[in-house]
Amino acid sequence: MTGATSSSASPQHGLTDRLARWARGLSGKVEESEEEEEQRPRTGTASNREINRRRQLYGDIGDFLFAHDLDLTPINFSVALDYLTGANIGVEKAIRAVMMERGKITNSWIESVAAEQRADEITPESLASMLDKVEENLGQFTGLMHESRNSAKDYGAALQEQAKDLAAGGDSEPVLSRLVGLTRSMVEKTRQVESQLRENQKQTQALKSSLETARRAAEHDHLTGLPNRRAFEGVLREELTLAQEQHETLSVAFCDIDHFKNINDTHGHDTGDRVLKFVAGLLAKISNDRCHVARHGGEEFVMLFRGKTAAETCEAVDGVREDLANRSLVNRTNGERMDRVSFSAGVANVLAYEDPRAALKAADRALYLAKEHGRNRVYLAAETD
Ligand code: GH3
Ligand code: MG
Ligand code: MG
Repeated sequence: MTGATSSSASPQHGLTDRLARWARGLSGKVEESEEEEEQRPRTGTASNREINRRRQLYGDIGDFLFAHDLDLTPINFSVALDYLTGANIGVEKAIRAVMMERGKITNSWIESVAAEQRADEITPESLASMLDKVEENLGQFTGLMHESRNSAKDYGAALQEQAKDLAAGGDSEPVLSRLVGLTRSMVEKTRQVESQLRENQKQTQALKSSLETARRAAEHDHLTGLPNRRAFEGVLREELTLAQEQHETLSVAFCDIDHFKNINDTHGHDTGDRVLKFVAGLLAKISNDRCHVARHGGEEFVMLFRGKTAAETCEAVDGVREDLANRSLVNRTNGERMDRVSFSAGVANVLAYEDPRAALKAADRALYLAKEHGRNRVYLAAETD
């Protein structure tokens, strides 16, 4: 171990559910901002502040929809709500990217975002039914191919038969008319098979897109909206290849919230969830195409930095650590100020180890030491670990 550098997202409920929660003033940032809030002088009663906040949010949603020429539909309303409250990191990021690129978002773009969100509603049952359909479709396709090959074979045999008759001489007219008849029926058969194949292809395309949606859902964490551990493993493989090809550095960091169990025990699981989303949001703020963050499980996050040395990674993670540790969060359910929330982290240089698995282990050991040495700090793993 070398010297230490001491130192959101969406609840994926259905649309109606989310709108109802919002109407009760319980949604997204309303919760988060209270938890994030530094103690400010209190003016007016809590309910007045709440009413003003809701009124403001109403106005902001209206302005947003108007500025983008969006129809007043539940989907548009919900996406605007997610964006303005920061309740869904994915939606917020996607909207920002579109606004940077084109300045405006459109009804059809929102439809496609909503379709992606629906991905999260995929259940094991719907996945099983999709797989049944894939199997059925494949069976249909094989059947059609078989049928088509058989009729081509029959046609070939019948042609040969007629050709023999022609070669034998005699009256060619009935033979020719039989040939014409045969060809007609072959053309008709081919047309039928073609149309069935087109239908089959259409269904295959739809299934492909549903499966793609399911795959995306399987790689996202529902609570924080971040990629999950499974997705991270794929990113790690890709980033490792890129780093090796381009001779770049690659570092990994494990971040684990300190005494998170106490937060749950003191303030309840729901508040714990909101703290998790809040920390996820802070980490996601520094992510980009060379910095990936994922929820590794429980109250632990993993980050991957390409193009940063391990020491620079320590610095970047330490910046987020400090930012979080300096905040005074308030539990919105009872207005109680929470104890400081912090995380500890362990960082390792991925390319200094035999394989990425060994680097992850080294980062985990560094995290363990950061915990042992008092928490709320970022440790760099020694490369001889
Ligand atoms: P340490 O500083 O050593 O990491 O202590 P800790 O309390 O953070 O660690 P511990 O492993 O003892 O407890 C982690 C807790 O995180 C236990 C588990 O119930 C809670 N947890 C895991 N996932 C979630 C979640 O999605 N939501 C909430 N609210 N709690 C969670
Ligand atoms: Mg912990
Ligand atoms: Mg943990």
